[in-house]
Amino acid sequence: MSTCARCATLFSRATPRLIDIRYGNMVTPELRRFYCPGCAEAIYRARTVLFRSGNSTAAKAATILGRATITRTRIPGVFTYKSTATTTATATASIFYIVTPDSCSCPAGMHGVLCSHRVAATILNTEEEAA
Ligand SMILES: [Zn+2]
Ligand SMILES: [Zn+2]
Repeated sequence: MSTCARCATLFSRATPRLIDIRYGNMVTPELRRFYCPGCAEAIYRARTVLFRSGNSTAAKAATILGRATITRTRIPGVFTYKSTATTTATATASIFYIVTPDSCSCPAGMHGVLCSHRVAATILNTEEEAA
């Protein structure tokens, strides 16, 4: 069993997904791995909109959502962003930010710039809406 990165419910990766039938191979393995069936579809739709916007921050947020490097914490509206960046051929640096839809502890966020982390957090924070 896995915990969904968006709604924190437990789900089985083996469960057949309606989304696979609908979108086929356009659903990334990460979406299947990190999100429950309902959220995978919601994130898939959100990513499509973000990518189509042509905005670089939106595109970065879409990548973050696809990889599930941003996850919900126990506190409502608060998320953590974790990533490993390769600094040299042998060294990697771990990046860790605390993110809410209104703030982020990354360098851009500290200066009040709307960063990709906040865009991703905003989408994860959106409650389920009737389609
Ligand atoms: Zn979910
Ligand atoms: Zn940020």
